[in-house]
Amino acid sequence: MATMSFVLSLDEGTSSARAALYDRTGARVALEAVPIHCRYPQPGWVEQDAREIFATQMSAAQSAMAQAGISASQIDSIGITNQRETVVVWDRATGIPVGPAIVWQCRRTAGYCAELARSSDARYIESKTGLVIDAYFSASKIAWILGAVPDARTRALNGDLVFGNIDTWLLWNLTRGARHVTDVTNASRTMLMDLETGQWDNGLLGIFDIPRAMMPEIVPSSGVAAETAPGIFGRGVSAAGIPIAGIAGDQQAALAGQACFRAGLAKNTYGTGCFALIHSGSHAPQSTHRLLGTRAASIDKSPAFAVEGSVFIAGAAIQWLRDQLGIIPSAAESEPIATSLEGNGGVYFVPAFTGLGAPHWQGAARGLICGMTRDTGRAHLVRAALESIAYQTRELIDAMEADAGAPLEELRVDGGASANNFLMQFQADILGRRIVRPADIETTALGAAYLAGLATGFWSGCEELQSFWRADRVFEPTMPDSQRRDLFDGWREAVSRCK
Ligand code: ADP
Repeated sequence: MATMSFVLSLDEGTSSARAALYDRTGARVALEAVPIHCRYPQPGWVEQDAREIFATQMSAAQSAMAQAGISASQIDSIGITNQRETVVVWDRATGIPVGPAIVWQCRRTAGYCAELARSSDARYIESKTGLVIDAYFSASKIAWILGAVPDARTRALNGDLVFGNIDTWLLWNLTRGARHVTDVTNASRTMLMDLETGQWDNGLLGIFDIPRAMMPEIVPSSGVAAETAPGIFGRGVSAAGIPIAGIAGDQQAALAGQACFRAGLAKNTYGTGCFALIHSGSHAPQSTHRLLGTRAASIDKSPAFAVEGSVFIAGAAIQWLRDQLGIIPSAAESEPIATSLEGNGGVYFVPAFTGLGAPHWQGAARGLICGMTRDTGRAHLVRAALESIAYQTRELIDAMEADAGAPLEELRVDGGASANNFLMQFQADILGRRIVRPADIETTALGAAYLAGLATGFWSGCEELQSFWRADRVFEPTMPDSQRRDLFDGWREAVSRCK
């Protein structure tokens, strides 16, 4: 090929829309992030403007192209990754949303979901989808819109209204309404897909009373799903359009970006919360520890699955120390403060501010700090907060290993708080597993690019992608077993007190 070409990754998150460009060696040549707004119209409600999301994503893409000095004709293909579960319903003819996007965090359907969880449909829903009934997933949010917007149900039945997660919304707009598709990883988070078959399930659609006519077509995560409308990226555009060849929900994209393409490979993202995913091969997982079964991005003909667990409050505990208590100036300062101590001095902090998630699922639990003595100071609280991130992750990984029946080889890490070397070493010690932090921790955007570039032949296969993957630092466990046991026993004791 005469001119250099690149893969464009569109990474639409909850707080910003990002765009990145990658060259043939997998190196990132540009990255732009543009913030997007959230609205909180009532306690627990979270909304965004879908049109702002698309406009913001486009401007991030334009800026990334300007930063790299390239034109649209040099883009081999586009990968899309997105905040999952967030719901948009819009008019098929005009493309105008019927209301705000309901964001994954929104709790407006919590009451409805609690009732559903007690109903005779609960077993069917959970066994079909691999999920735990919760307002988090898309289905109850779609049902809410159909109930709240006048005439919405009739219009949806007639095929005049369509539903999409953010991947679908972006792709619809990039194709100027020519394609209404989602990928199987996003679909697996709606609570309307049969996890095993990868198809919408009529039984689930019936339970939530959602017309099938409004559902997008489900396509593979890696494959040409559409071409952009010509001219969508402005001047200098080839008339042919650009293939949109990769789509995955953010956590599944990160799993791909960490080159976790086979069973047993796992990643944990340390952000506001933690998201741990372990690739579980080509058979639908059955968690006996109340973790979620989900689709992973498949890179060949067979389907791919993962088990997922999340920690609600991880980096957010550090934010809490900074903003609510005001005892640290910045998140990064937590590291030198924690390492100023030899140990935790018996102090534990369980940041169950919003209840305890997997594997406890105790929504009514609340946070506590325990084990304090007269010489407990700020450093103990800071250290205990960082340690709580590692302990909560250990609980998830223990459950994953028990489900898988095999120990993890290593845990690949990313996210803002993975920059904390104390936390990473403590994580390795408390897990007794190797922790590997890659050089590029923008794994979400990278994963979506991988999926697109694999589909178009820009990259030859996952071996080539694996060869791009570079460790920045490896943390080996060095803590004696007895110390690990004692510390973790202390954590368990603290958790039992806050239930
Ligand atoms: P998100 O994508 O969830 O917004 P990020 O991946 O940007 O999160 O990470 C930000 C979170 O990580 C914040 O909660 C912050 O408190 C925490 N954090 C950032 N840097 C550090 C650090 N060096 N040590 C500990 N926590 C950190």
